[in-house]
Amino acid sequence: MKQSMTLIPTLREVPADADVKSHQQLLRAGFIRQNASGIYSFLPLGRKVLQKVEEIIREEMVNAGGAELLMPALQQAELWQESGRWNTYGPELMRLEDRHNRNFALGATHEEVITSLVRDEIKSYKKLPLTLFQIQTKFRDEKRPRFGLLRGREFIMKDAYSFHSSYESLDETYEKIFQAYQNVFRRCGLNFRAVIADSGAMGGKDTHEFMVLSDIGEDTIAYSDTSQYAANIEMAPVVTKYKESTEAKKDLEKVETPGKKTIEEVSSHLQTGKDKCIKSLLFKADEEFVLVIVRGDHEVNDIKVKNLLDASVVELATAEETKEILDAPFGSIGPVNSKAGVKIIADEAIKYLINAVCGANQEGLHYTNVNIERDFKVDQFADLRFIQEGDPSPDGEGTIQFAKGIEVGHVFKLGTRYSDAMGAQYLDENGRAQSMIMGCYGIGVSRTLAAVAEQYSDESGLQWPASLTPFDLHIIPVNIKNDEQRELADQLYKELKDQRFDVLLDDRQERPGVKFTDSDLIGLPFRVTVGKKASEGIVEVKVRKTGDVIEVHKDELAARLQELFRNQ
Ligand code: ATP
Ligand code: MG
Repeated sequence: MKQSMTLIPTLREVPADADVKSHQQLLRAGFIRQNASGIYSFLPLGRKVLQKVEEIIREEMVNAGGAELLMPALQQAELWQESGRWNTYGPELMRLEDRHNRNFALGATHEEVITSLVRDEIKSYKKLPLTLFQIQTKFRDEKRPRFGLLRGREFIMKDAYSFHSSYESLDETYEKIFQAYQNVFRRCGLNFRAVIADSGAMGGKDTHEFMVLSDIGEDTIAYSDTSQYAANIEMAPVVTKYKESTEAKKDLEKVETPGKKTIEEVSSHLQTGKDKCIKSLLFKADEEFVLVIVRGDHEVNDIKVKNLLDASVVELATAEETKEILDAPFGSIGPVNSKAGVKIIADEAIKYLINAVCGANQEGLHYTNVNIERDFKVDQFADLRFIQEGDPSPDGEGTIQFAKGIEVGHVFKLGTRYSDAMGAQYLDENGRAQSMIMGCYGIGVSRTLAAVAEQYSDESGLQWPASLTPFDLHIIPVNIKNDEQRELADQLYKELKDQRFDVLLDDRQERPGVKFTDSDLIGLPFRVTVGKKASEGIVEVKVRKTGDVIEVHKDELAARLQELFRNQ
């Protein structure tokens, strides 16, 4: 491709609204442009990389036994009503009406469409298992679209769905796709880890997220410092053995804590450790209000609360709700003399507290020397807190450390959640109707591209791994007006293309400095500079990643490049 014939609008300045490396570099190097918040165009270079990511995914999915299809992005509301998600999916689902006032959604995911398709087409166990996948644009009206392609409102996803007549068969496919994902992310050159994501409604521990390790990741991974254990922090169970205290119980006291609301403020005011305080939070679990208490140095894990209460939505009560339900100010609630009728659930660590501190349900007052059973009752104890660094690893080996991750893929055993709701059944060997057992498997294709950009760049620009680079190499004649340089560059361009290299030739009438800066931004693995030694048939090859420069004679160039690619 000649550079004069494509669109690569590079930027000299770092765009002010781009806050992470990948977003900045992809904008600066002219790979993408923002259209509206969370909505992007892929310019020619971006499109090429995207195609390469897609091709790797396609190969691995087909290899794992998947068949590709393409479903509509425009989905009728009836399907979402059948699954029940028209009401539960919330504002992330982009909804619209057609000219006849019929409701539609723009596909955020395709469980409904595929389940209805397979329900209509598959009747017998003989046609199972079946794995179908597509690569398609998804729409989600994210609350906070950000970080460029990493969290968009329109983005590209590979989604796959598998259908089975037994859980063993689901396990087999799950394992194959798990392997396929490992291959995909490895081939993309990513530093990633598969982590346990959900202990799940089905009780299967085999639900994983694929996380690219990165400081800008929105997810926290809890991993063991000595074993293979790694889980999304949301899911990691706490197995800490707390110590029994030998302290003697003192009399309950009410003390003044004017203006002190947070655990931090209260503990420093009372000169006591945060681990002696009780943190109390009122949650609304579907329609029920529940008081959740954890130790002051711990954080409530709302997913554990949600799972314990078997609720579909759990959120913190507002100040108004707190006033109304507990008749207490937001910052001073506590389990002692708490309003009757509001259930109290407590984290395991609370059991071991002696002479603790908690809010007195009155402005500016706290209780000290609080003791469970004597001063308040707990309806249920459970593991309700987030695991912390230094806690023992749930698999019993080593201690927990944290890392940040970007979720690029998710494999999930759905069971019969959708087939039950939508009546997707097959006839088994005995002619009995059974619900199909399903799995679903997603990869954020555009997010993967951004994750690669995040891991492969420096201050001067991008540094594409050979598997995803938009072109293999960049040929730059230093002075396009010099006949020898221009002719040699043209000749090498043709020859290397004949040798099956995908070449970008900078044939623009620009100053050398501009061309080199742009070339660094674009970040192809190798740059061939045709300069003063063109008359001797000698060119320079620069390796983007290391900055190494070697002089090569034109007759040896193809062979040298092949060797360099092999050693990448
Ligand atoms: P997240 O927790 O990041 O919102 P999710 O759990 O909603 O992700 P899934 O529904 O499992 O994501 O979607 C499958 C894959 O699609 C994710 O693993 C992720 O890589 C990608 N993805 C999800 N939301 C977005 C988005 N807003 N922009 C880009 N990619 C996304
Ligand atoms: Mg999401």
